[in-house]
Amino acid sequence: MCGIIGYAGDDALPVLLDGLRRLEYRGYDSAGVGLEDGSLRVYRSSGEVSEIERKVDDVDSAPVGVGHTRWSTHGAPVEKNAHPQVDCTGDVAVVHNGIVENHEELRSELEGRGHSFTSDTDTEVVAHLVEERVGDGLREALEHATSRLEGSYAVAVSAADSGRVVAARQDSPLLVAYGGGCNYLASDAPAVVNRTKEVTYLEDGDVAVLEADSVSFYRDGSEFTPDVDVIDWDAEEAEKGGYPHYMLKEIHEQPRALRRAISGRFDAVEGEVDVEVDLPNDVEDIDVVACGTSYHAGLYAETLLEEYAGLRVSVDYASEYTSSADVVVAVTQSGETADTLSAVRRAKADGAYVVAVTNTVGSTVTREADDTVYIRAGPEIGVAATKTFGSQVVTLAALAVAWGRERDELSTVAASELIEDLQGSPAQFNRCSTGTAR
Ligand code: GLU
Repeated sequence: MCGIIGYAGDDALPVLLDGLRRLEYRGYDSAGVGLEDGSLRVYRSSGEVSEIERKVDDVDSAPVGVGHTRWSTHGAPVEKNAHPQVDCTGDVAVVHNGIVENHEELRSELEGRGHSFTSDTDTEVVAHLVEERVGDGLREALEHATSRLEGSYAVAVSAADSGRVVAARQDSPLLVAYGGGCNYLASDAPAVVNRTKEVTYLEDGDVAVLEADSVSFYRDGSEFTPDVDVIDWDAEEAEKGGYPHYMLKEIHEQPRALRRAISGRFDAVEGEVDVEVDLPNDVEDIDVVACGTSYHAGLYAETLLEEYAGLRVSVDYASEYTSSADVVVAVTQSGETADTLSAVRRAKADGAYVVAVTNTVGSTVTREADDTVYIRAGPEIGVAATKTFGSQVVTLAALAVAWGRERDELSTVAASELIEDLQGSPAQFNRCSTGTAR
């Protein structure tokens, strides 16, 4: 529960502060920004982003910078532990989401080579590892640093006289967004979607180098050209829009979310459903893997898949999953749920065909699964799932009907009736949210 924002362009400070504000919903206990205009300046504070705004009130902006909202895992939420963390010289600034599991070992090794530490965080080792190789170039230094890390990270580095932000990820989301004359880095799309919708989601092991007029990507040390995705929702959808809080807004968004979930997928006359995936019809047993709310959507799907598609279904908590079926349906709203991704990897390693059901275009699960059904709910900012649960349930119901037809388990008439029921779901939700349901 933490956030990263990065920028390379002409005027970093307002972008970083706005991005941090937009990431606040994730929860945090401290925050900070680093600005680079030849020299590097770092401003950190415990508490709220407003504390940082106060600290930078009369400082000059800079063309390049990084920002962070921290949710402490190592070290108290006090100023010295807020990010950016810096190296011995103060010329390297690092923001990090995740946990460096081998930080104690790396810290003693680095102290043995004369580095002195000023925080209690696991993150600070990254700054010192980069410091040791920064003369080779910032990207090379970060690649060296990440080769030493065990654990999870989305990490962004800024350094004096570099004019760039360099970033890498492992098991923690990170995206690059293209501004035209400037470029952005963020851990979550709501941080930047008000500025641009063209994004590239980094994959594990990828390194990105952001400058004002270009972004380059590296995998295994070689440059490559990544896919560019277009975010399919608007900035207003990630704002409160007059509601006192996101959860209430998202409850009221349910009818619209459901209309999107079913849009263009049904032919009630022919009893056909198109969820845009290949559904194997030569299987009898499938596993559904998920966590939390998605797991509960999966339990509902179990009944439907058994009844409509004649499948034997086992719904498993992703963290406890030991792969067995030939076909696995992985349900994850974010597409980044670590336990669900691990279950997908186990299933793939065992040769299973994996269908992902997710809300997030370009997320990790969409790349690792064989095929993906999107629930199309738009961004969910509230921590408690509301509209995404409804959209998962309706999408999984559509999947069950589609599979039932594929397997000749449902007649045209039966499928048509189910489709008409599903087509009525937005109106039913609407009556619920306006209090007219009986
Ligand atoms: N492990 C790091 C720390 O405690 C980063 C925590 C986070 O993800 O915000 O500073």
